[in-house]
Amino acid sequence: MLVIMRDRATQAEIDHVVANLKEAGAEAHLSVGEEKTIIGVIGDRGIIYNLDLEGLPGVEQVIRVLKPYKLVSRDFQPEDTVVAVRGSEVGGGALAAIAGPCSIESEEQMVAAARAVARAGATMLRGGAFKPRTSPYAFQGLGLDGLKLLRAAGDETGLPVVTELLDVRDAEQVAGHADVLQVGARNCQNFMMLEELGRMDVPVLLKRGPSTTIEELLSAAEYILKGGNRAVILCERGIRTFETYTRNTLDLSAVAALKSLTHLPVIVDPSHATGRRDLVSRMCRAGLAAGADGIMVEVHPDPEHARCDGPQSLTTNEFELLMASLDPVVGIEGKSWGSL
Ligand code: PEP
Ligand code: MN
Repeated sequence: MLVIMRDRATQAEIDHVVANLKEAGAEAHLSVGEEKTIIGVIGDRGIIYNLDLEGLPGVEQVIRVLKPYKLVSRDFQPEDTVVAVRGSEVGGGALAAIAGPCSIESEEQMVAAARAVARAGATMLRGGAFKPRTSPYAFQGLGLDGLKLLRAAGDETGLPVVTELLDVRDAEQVAGHADVLQVGARNCQNFMMLEELGRMDVPVLLKRGPSTTIEELLSAAEYILKGGNRAVILCERGIRTFETYTRNTLDLSAVAALKSLTHLPVIVDPSHATGRRDLVSRMCRAGLAAGADGIMVEVHPDPEHARCDGPQSLTTNEFELLMASLDPVVGIEGKSWGSL
């Protein structure tokens, strides 16, 4: 349920509604906008209806929410969420370019990738230390040693770092080294992990699962917001379809739909979506044209010898060309790169 307060409702009126809700055992989540305050209510519906909130001073309207999510919806918060990460922003007109290797392999590789993407205009650095691999025999990542290399490369280039949290038991350790925790596609509906991230004070990049619907993705994000963490970035990374030419199918209509359904920033990852280096640049441009708030791209100084996802990784030179090619699309909705 959403309680829409009147324009210029006083703080005392808002506090009074919140106090009533708390007394009834409900959670009250506030969205304080420029014009309106909206209270998202979570709790027993029968009890909340009996409170007759519509009769309280300052209340304009009480809306029943039939969707399985509310805090992530634009009905609750009409204004875009801006996620700020160490001198970089995404959302509300700020675009992210998150770039770096699929997996952290060595100091030399990480530093070369970081320097190149920083020079080309990336706003954040990525690299996987814990890799979710389809085969148990494939390279699983360098773990903690990798995290340290990523942190050092981020510090040297001044870029915030993004890395995947593969196991909820590692949450504190990974958060100690990274600025943004990525929930990989395979963990999109790992509800224990989402709840843990909801309790933490760290920005989260939530990737859509290969077969999660838009509603399921938003419900997954709702788990994080419900816990109190509102710094969530959504990522469309391709879904599984009958097509086999590409690794997945980049669902651009989901990007357009998400932009109207939610206030959270939405980015696209054409590397994992297409699995093919030759398609990445065009799909980045398409993603931004569809309204995305940024891109995530795999970049490797020597993709031929990459230990993971080489065929979809751009060379550092290709990434530089990609960034230059984005200039015309960046401004179409009045957006600009989110480096502070
Ligand atoms: C990744 O970004 O490194 C990754 C493994 O992607 P996904 O979870 O989308 O497959
Ligand atoms: Mn990868």
